[in-house]
Amino acid sequence: MQEEHFSDFSQALVDWFKTCGKDYPWRRTTDPWAILVSEIMLQQTTIPTVLGRYEAWMAQFPTPAALAAADEQTALRSWEGLGYYRRVRALRAAAIAIEEQHRGVFPTSEEAIRALPGIGDYTVGALLSFAYNRPAPLVDANVSRVFARVFNDTTPVDSPTGRKRHWQLAARLVHPTNPRAYNSALMELGQTICTTASPTCLLCPVRVFCTATKPESLPVKLPKKEITAIEHFDIWHQTEQGLLMELQPDGKRHEGMYRLPRREPQDVTKLPHLCDQKYTVTRYKVTRHLYRAEAATPHPGEQFIPLEELASTPMASPDRKLVNRFLS
Ligand code: SF4
Repeated sequence: MQEEHFSDFSQALVDWFKTCGKDYPWRRTTDPWAILVSEIMLQQTTIPTVLGRYEAWMAQFPTPAALAAADEQTALRSWEGLGYYRRVRALRAAAIAIEEQHRGVFPTSEEAIRALPGIGDYTVGALLSFAYNRPAPLVDANVSRVFARVFNDTTPVDSPTGRKRHWQLAARLVHPTNPRAYNSALMELGQTICTTASPTCLLCPVRVFCTATKPESLPVKLPKKEITAIEHFDIWHQTEQGLLMELQPDGKRHEGMYRLPRREPQDVTKLPHLCDQKYTVTRYKVTRHLYRAEAATPHPGEQFIPLEELASTPMASPDRKLVNRFLS
């Protein structure tokens, strides 16, 4: 696309969004806290999943003050099932910073927003444009795909050069007077029309500007890291004191959450086998072997959780599934 068409491209997206934009709860508000919550939830979680959880979360934590006042375990438990728990820790840290540094009022300056814990370039752009309607750029995977195709750009989108180029383009293309609708439209175009597998170019509101010759082959990405298979050997040890579980220490992926205790293979292979659980986390393909232990000495960090407290005890989804399945 030539530079002289940039403003027509942006206006075409805004016009399309007026009639075709989807109605989501986070698009009915300009409350920066509500928008921050939606943006954090939508990172690495699908829109249908977030739609099923967002309003309940906002009812429980309608303000930064509400989340800042909750303890971490309560926040983790409420986030359960959404995964990537560092997000809720960052959200709570941001809520505490808003309470302590901004007297509970969400900051409006870019500098102050950027200084909040867990806020990166994308979230800054989302808050400035969606909450304050300020012409701030944003780039996510959908926007990158649209740009790669519109500009027929074969630079890997996840390379430093590709990222820099798309952020520069985003800054130059953002609509000057309606950035809220423009940024929403750009992302929605990637979600609904300029999709990864099968772009529906005939329905595209910016097809006259698009220079992609083979859109399905774009965007180009750097080679993927190899998937590594790993195995874990865990025990189910339930007594009248409760279920033995291990609190994940600071710095661990699931810090502050509980999981079934882990053992060395030689310590469990003679125990009755309960099940194998398989799941994928980032670039790891996990196989978890679970054994029933009639006797077990708690290791450091392990403790019995009374059965009636398990429902309110934060744990990652794989552990929650096992607890729901085997609790007796
Ligand atoms: S014309 Fe096709 S490839 Fe180009 S932006 Fe639209 S949907 Fe994507």
